[in-house]
Amino acid sequence: MERIFGKPLIPQREIEKRVKELGTKITADYEGKELVMICVLKGAYVFFADLVRNIHVPLSVDFMMVSSYGARANSSGVVKIISDLSTTIKGKDVLLVEDIVDSGLTLSYLYRTIKSKKPKSLKLCALLDKVERRKYDLPIDYVGFAVPNKFVIGYGLDYRDNYRNLPYIAVLDISDVELLGRK
Ligand code: 5GP
Repeated sequence: MERIFGKPLIPQREIEKRVKELGTKITADYEGKELVMICVLKGAYVFFADLVRNIHVPLSVDFMMVSSYGARANSSGVVKIISDLSTTIKGKDVLLVEDIVDSGLTLSYLYRTIKSKKPKSLKLCALLDKVERRKYDLPIDYVGFAVPNKFVIGYGLDYRDNYRNLPYIAVLDISDVELLGRK
C-alpha cells in the first residue's frame, strides 16, 4: 500500500499530536472572542475538521473554494474563487485555514480578499509550509509542519483529486503512479 501511495512523510500519530497542539494554542489565543474559521476547499477539509474539534472556544465555520493558476505553471499568478463565503465576517475574528503554502500566491490573494471584507482580525493557519518555495511574503500565524520541496498527498491533499483519504502525509512518486496506470 505504501509503495503505491507514496513515501510516508508525516505519520498519522504525528499529525494528530500537532493538530492538538495547534488547537490548544488557538483556544488560548481566542479566549473570549467570536471566532469564525474559514476552510479553503478542497485540500484543507480533513485538517479543518480535526482542528475545529481541538479548539474549545465558541466558533462558526465557513468555506471558500479556490483554484490557483500561475505559481506552479510559471504563468501570471491568478487565483480564481469558485465558491465564496456564505456569511458576513465584518467585525469578526477570522482564522483562515489552508492545507499547504507553496509560493504563497493563494494565501496572499485570499488574505487580501478577506481583509477587504473588514473583519476585526485576520490570522492564517496552514497545515504544511514549503518554506523554500515562498515567493509571496505573508505572515502565517499557525503552521503545522515545514515540508521539503516535494509534491505531497494525503490527509486532504490530492493528486488529480485522488489520495485525499490517506490518513498520513506522503511524498508522491509520480513515476509509481504512472507505472500503475492510476490518474
Ligand atoms: P501556492 O498558491 O502557495 O503556490 O500553492 C498553494 C496551493 O497549491 C495549495 O492550496 C494546494 O492546492 C497546491 N499545492 C501546492 N503544493 C502542493 C503539494 O505538494 N501537494 C498538493 N497536493 N497540493 C499542493
